[in-house]
Amino acid sequence: MYMHELNMTSFTDFAQRVDTVLIPIGMIEAHGPHCSLSTDILIPREFVRRLNPLIGDRVLMAPEIPYGHSFGLAPFAGTIDIPGEVFGAYVFEVAKAYLKQGMQNVVLFNGHGGNMSSLSLVSEKLADHGATVLTINWWVDYRAEIVKYAPVTGHAGEDETSAVLAIDPALVDMRLGVSNHTITTPSNLKMKDMGKQSYPQAYSGHAGAATAEKGEQIYTALLPKIIADIEQMWKYSR
Ligand SMILES: [Zn+2]
Repeated sequence: MYMHELNMTSFTDFAQRVDTVLIPIGMIEAHGPHCSLSTDILIPREFVRRLNPLIGDRVLMAPEIPYGHSFGLAPFAGTIDIPGEVFGAYVFEVAKAYLKQGMQNVVLFNGHGGNMSSLSLVSEKLADHGATVLTINWWVDYRAEIVKYAPVTGHAGEDETSAVLAIDPALVDMRLGVSNHTITTPSNLKMKDMGKQSYPQAYSGHAGAATAEKGEQIYTALLPKIIADIEQMWKYSR
């Protein structure tokens, strides 16, 4: 059930039966020259659109948190970078407010790599408040499945670009000539504006190989895995 479709009366009724909230979390960020700045929230939104008919009777689909933190892509046009501490504190307070409204289980459905360290801390804090928390970083958690369809994954790479093409081909401009970029900077280094070196054109992976068909295959393959992870959370839930 989408939160935005409820009123106070129907929410009260729903919250008596359902104790799980899913919060989609993303980022507004440069995704290569070709892919939407909103890629990292468009994809969680699309997963929710497909999950809602399947498990929407057991999960409250909360409105999205579209802004996040990006160290690596902050130097590029279109990135709206929020400090990780501020972002994490905000997500925590949003989720805590759902706990006050009767939710017990929280799914943080994340679409953006730069959010991961903050969300890890948020999930621990929420757990300390008594919640059971499942954090889904879809492109990491299900990579073994994703590479069957889009082998050269990356930031705005074959996987993400395909997933956006499957939503709407108008959100991607494949004429901009993206090909394949491999990150060579050491992953254990941090330097100011190092994203310019790591991602010369604000993408990595084989963006040029993306297709809407691959994106459709990714959504179809991942939905049952996401549902299985949510059902596993319910087994552990207090
Ligand atoms: Zn992304």
